[in-house]
Amino acid sequence: MRRDSLAEKRRSKFLAVRCNECGNEQVIFSHASTTVRCHVCSNTLAVPRGGKAEIKATVVGAVE
Ligand SMILES: [Zn+2]
Repeated sequence: MRRDSLAEKRRSKFLAVRCNECGNEQVIFSHASTTVRCHVCSNTLAVPRGGKAEIKATVVGAVE
């Protein structure tokens, strides 16, 4: 059970991204199952792709 949770943690992570439209930075889930929009301008930041989300913004870092 402990090993499973560790594997899950490696596959799924949060990404710090910068919106290409307004420059706002926010943290999004790399496997988002719904479209993620910028909190400031509503630009699309990530689109679900049945697994890892397609990131439409600039990735500036990973958050563990
Ligand atoms: Zn924005």
